[in-house]
Amino acid sequence: MARQLPLRIPMITLSLPGLIFLYVMLFLGVIFLIWVACEMVRKIREHRALQYRLQCTICGMIYEDRSAAVLPRCPRCRSLNERLKVKAY
Ligand SMILES: [Zn+2]
Repeated sequence: MARQLPLRIPMITLSLPGLIFLYVMLFLGVIFLIWVACEMVRKIREHRALQYRLQCTICGMIYEDRSAAVLPRCPRCRSLNERLKVKAY
């Protein structure tokens, strides 16, 4: 019968404070990644929501225009407006 040699698994020795530190850092890293992903999704949704929204430079009316016109016309004062970004506060 062949003798079986004890299986040697390489181990990393870690003290208890080191283990707690590693656990906390991994936990915070996961929280940070989730936060970054949520922020990216929020910005994408905000961009899509405000993509066609315009603000008239004459009367200040905020309206939506989904046409391909370069200078869309304001429905209230009929002035032409550039497609500038409307800030969401
Ligand atoms: Zn207007």
